[in-house]
Amino acid sequence: ERKAALEGVKGPGATSDGHKVPLLANVGGPSDVPAAVEAGAEGVGLFRTEFLFLDNSEQAPSEEKQVEAYRQVLEAFPEGRVVVRVLDAGADKPLDFLSPGEEPNPALGVRGLRTLLDHPEVLRGQLRALAKAAEGLPVYLEVMAPMVADRTDAKAFADACREAGLRAKFGAMVEIPSAALRARSVLQEVEFLSLGTNDLAQYTFAADRQVGAVSRLQDPWQPALLDLVSLSAEAAKAEGKSCGVCGEAASDPLLACVLTGLGVTSLSMGAASIPYVRATLAKHTLAQCERAASAARAADTAEEARIAAQAVLSGE
Ligand code: PEP
Ligand code: MG
Repeated sequence: ERKAALEGVKGPGATSDGHKVPLLANVGGPSDVPAAVEAGAEGVGLFRTEFLFLDNSEQAPSEEKQVEAYRQVLEAFPEGRVVVRVLDAGADKPLDFLSPGEEPNPALGVRGLRTLLDHPEVLRGQLRALAKAAEGLPVYLEVMAPMVADRTDAKAFADACREAGLRAKFGAMVEIPSAALRARSVLQEVEFLSLGTNDLAQYTFAADRQVGAVSRLQDPWQPALLDLVSLSAEAAKAEGKSCGVCGEAASDPLLACVLTGLGVTSLSMGAASIPYVRATLAKHTLAQCERAASAARAADTAEEARIAAQAVLSGE
């Protein structure tokens, strides 16, 4: 029955009145590409490159090995967008050779972009490999950094991309509340934002994403999280730039409508969720999504936000 409901809805992501919201896939490597293509992904919104580094905890993979893997993903989306995230090591994604040593709070320590800025040779190698992989391909390459806290971080990343001779758009993930609060400042250095709602929830609610006991606070329907999404999307709009979502939040069809209503410009998710999100989005107008977003933000709890958005979207 669920399958039947999906039939007839194909093609690019859009609301029923034609407001386009590209639906992109989250991939962890070339082996995830066939499912993304099959689901009709319009590109890749989050290429997690950690997989390449996990085989060998002693050192970074060779540039040749990286070029090969990046090229396989880039080639699968000719003319499409591919957003590659540079290595996000540390905390929930530990790597021995980049370990900052004992830290009292690894999630608040040297991780993500901070790790790469401490190991510039690893970042340079990755950026050079990306530049080589994209050579001669028509793909629209975008490269983003995880865990950007502020404009200084964004500038350090953009400078590294320029120094590596990378011809791509450079972006910042919004995973730390400070980056959402000062999104316009971050956008002075980069061309797009991508909201990592998993980490953004973790840092907004001081609730470790790996601790089940605090999972209530990891719920992406939390109105405080929606406020930060809204701030980021508004800032991007004011700067004439894009702001996507690539965290788990994008894979919930109802929440995808709310995110669209908040002004998010693309949604990236595991391939399996794409048909459901596409079908739900196609049933509602942009104005309905905006009303659902306002209703959700007016709520006090995640549960009330979900119910309020559901009521708006089903009642019209
Ligand atoms: C996120 O934090 O929402 C995100 C997309 O990155 P990851 O889950 O890989 O940390
Ligand atoms: Mg993250």
